[in-house]
Amino acid sequence: MANYKYVAYFEVIELFRSSGYEVCKIFDYNINWALYLRHDVDLDLKYAAEMAEEEAKKSLKSVYFIQLTSLFYNPLFKSSQIYIKRILDCGQEIGLHFNHAAYMGDEDRMIAIEKEVLELIIGKEIKTITIHRPREIDLGGPVNKNGMISLYSEKYFLDIEYMSDSYGKWTYGDPRIRIKEAKGRSFQLLTHPYIWRSPKIKVASKLKRFKNRKEIELLQELENNFKLYKKFV
Ligand SMILES: [Zn+2]
Repeated sequence: MANYKYVAYFEVIELFRSSGYEVCKIFDYNINWALYLRHDVDLDLKYAAEMAEEEAKKSLKSVYFIQLTSLFYNPLFKSSQIYIKRILDCGQEIGLHFNHAAYMGDEDRMIAIEKEVLELIIGKEIKTITIHRPREIDLGGPVNKNGMISLYSEKYFLDIEYMSDSYGKWTYGDPRIRIKEAKGRSFQLLTHPYIWRSPKIKVASKLKRFKNRKEIELLQELENNFKLYKKFV
């Protein structure tokens, strides 16, 4: 049986395709009729790996943007590396999802360090970057950011159409209307894998489940590492 978990996501892609759009690699830039698929991994690499495999079955190319300072996952962990490998094995790209809020300053230096660390993890050059919770100053600007393609640059964010599913809603309007209004102008479509897994479950419930799972993992880790913990709680 086909994996029903991401079916609503593929319905959106189909909407674009049936309107004349073609899913393209981020590097094959075209101002018209291209659909660029971008995923920011803000929560869980497991869902990203699942989604990448479903996309690969449909020969869709996309980029998965990974954080190095997330409190929710650590790309250096063995379990994370297994998920990252699954994404790469599908032929999808890995990009850097930089969280400026994680640092005191000197962002250029931290971006360079994160790029290098992520490259060491995946064994490939990191060619693309997105900013987690971008500020006004992150939007627009040159395409080259610290030696990577910035998907918030003028070229990818302002010159073409942009859509995002942030917070489980289409924050930039309904896809049907946007496609109609775009008149063939290319799109960058940002989606977050955890939102599209199991479409019948509300986003708030998904986050609660995630919290419960992480709580169990954290308690297990405390017990494994600190014998005293079990004694006093
Ligand atoms: Zn993000």
